[in-house]
Amino acid sequence: MKKTIGIVGGGQLGRMLAQAAHQLGFLVTVLDPTPNSPAGQVADKQIIGSFKDKEKILELGRDSDFITFEIESANAEALEELIKEGKSVNPSPRTLSIIKDKFNQKVFLSENNIPVADFALIDSIEDCERQGELFEYPFLLKARFDAYDGRGNYVIKSESDIEKAFEKLSKSPLYAESFVPFVKELSVVCARGMDGEIITFPVVETIHKNNICHIVRSPAPVEHDVVIEAKNIAYKVMDALSGVGVFAIEMFLKHDGEILVNEIAPRVHNSGHHSIEAFSMSQFEAHIRAITGMPLVEPEPRSRASVMVNILGERDGEAFMGPDFKGLDEQGTHVHIYGKLETRPERKMGHITVLADTLEEAESKALEVRESIEI
Ligand code: AMP
Repeated sequence: MKKTIGIVGGGQLGRMLAQAAHQLGFLVTVLDPTPNSPAGQVADKQIIGSFKDKEKILELGRDSDFITFEIESANAEALEELIKEGKSVNPSPRTLSIIKDKFNQKVFLSENNIPVADFALIDSIEDCERQGELFEYPFLLKARFDAYDGRGNYVIKSESDIEKAFEKLSKSPLYAESFVPFVKELSVVCARGMDGEIITFPVVETIHKNNICHIVRSPAPVEHDVVIEAKNIAYKVMDALSGVGVFAIEMFLKHDGEILVNEIAPRVHNSGHHSIEAFSMSQFEAHIRAITGMPLVEPEPRSRASVMVNILGERDGEAFMGPDFKGLDEQGTHVHIYGKLETRPERKMGHITVLADTLEEAESKALEVRESIEI
């Protein structure tokens, strides 16, 4: 009998997970509040409901043999309850609980001797002013919960920004972080199987604009010792965290070579999308293999270089697809459109991956294809 994978969250990550799950013969049910969500369009079934709604998560659990999530705001207590009912939930809800609070995540990382930027809890404007003096300006005020794509971050450049930052973010509990003058942002996507084996994808460089990931370069154009250090830190993070499945570890590389961990995603990640075409096993397949107890293999690259460029929305309204993409007639270019019905400025609508002999060639082709797409 076919087994069902239940995914909390129906966005593009859920969609690509569902596609990988189907490839391996599983059925898929997703839980998402938006009918006809990107993942719902390709899954066998969608339950309409919030990923914070305990009853809906229990309903998803009863419908599924293996349960996972694609979003940190998934209700961890409800997932914990499914484990008590004997269900297989991965990564572990305990790990999710640590990570979903960005402040607790930083405490956890520093307790495990993993290098991070200085950080402090902020309860009031006065706290924030005091912290500004300690950290010096600029520094970041960050929402502890439900912040994604930089939406919960505010860069405070001087004391006069503090009130504005509070107005914008104060719906959530907050914390402050010192500003890291990084030279590059790096990410390592790892997966742990049920047998404990860990595999890693090569270290990538991520380019963010307005806190949103725009470009991923694989492999990261950095010295070999930086690659080794980034992987060592990634293994240290994996050792500290329990749970099976894919994790992405985002890092800052400083000009003196020091690497700090920015944050962990306990799920498949934008910095691994290129793996669909660029490696023998994608991050999505790795996750499905891991949470269902299948073996993991080291991903083999299919080209010397690959670059992923996100297709971000540029206007408000109904999404449309231009019929005449350029670049699709070229070898090694791959376009993914997530099926979102509405577009918004900077909303992730799709991505392009290009495989080539050099990063420069891959990036210029990917940007050319991006230019030709109106969505
Ligand atoms: P986050 O969602 O907190 O990972 O932040 C999104 C992006 O904001 C990161 O990828 C960085 O480009 C930038 N950022 C976050 N925290 C810091 C920091 N402490 N110093 C400098 N830049 C940061």
